[in-house]
Amino acid sequence: MKLVILDRDGTINVDSDEFIKTPEEWQPLPGALEAIARLNHAGWHVAVASNQSGLGRGLFDVVSLNAIHAKMHKAAAALGGRIDAVFYCPHSPDEGCQCRKPLPGLFEQIGERFGVDLKSTHVVGDTVRDLQAGTAVGCKPHLVLTGKAEALRGQSLPTTFPPGTVVHDDLAAFADWLITRAAAVAPRPAP
Ligand SMILES: [Zn+2]
Repeated sequence: MKLVILDRDGTINVDSDEFIKTPEEWQPLPGALEAIARLNHAGWHVAVASNQSGLGRGLFDVVSLNAIHAKMHKAAAALGGRIDAVFYCPHSPDEGCQCRKPLPGLFEQIGERFGVDLKSTHVVGDTVRDLQAGTAVGCKPHLVLTGKAEALRGQSLPTTFPPGTVVHDDLAAFADWLITRAAAVAPRPAP
């Protein structure tokens, strides 16, 4: 099974230091949902792994988070895309959980749910902790220069990023990279 694990805020949708608390505040980044649809059509499943400490901090509740994700699923579907599952950490940083990125708990849950080898899975995010969580379980790391990583545009990658991190302008560029590369290495059909 071909699986891509995406961060949410700053990778799929516009990030906010004030947290995304309502469906109205959830706005897709340009081309991001179209990129998910292109990945789906090329045979990739898409899961989301997201820190949502706003829950633990009491800034919004699960009903609001479900409504935000309903909007995200509906917006993706309108463009022919599908997000198979959303895994999130509901804890605040001081709760000492195992699922808040950069810890790999969410990725382990995704691996179990999908029964997939995480070493052949790509992780995409806009922060070093997104990628560290993925590489801890063997995922291949990809940084998108949107969200918090916009500040890194035109700069060399800080050494804190996992070795082998591939940098893309945005999720659309990542999708193009992956689809093109997969086509290039696919075995040719017999004549
Ligand atoms: Zn957690």
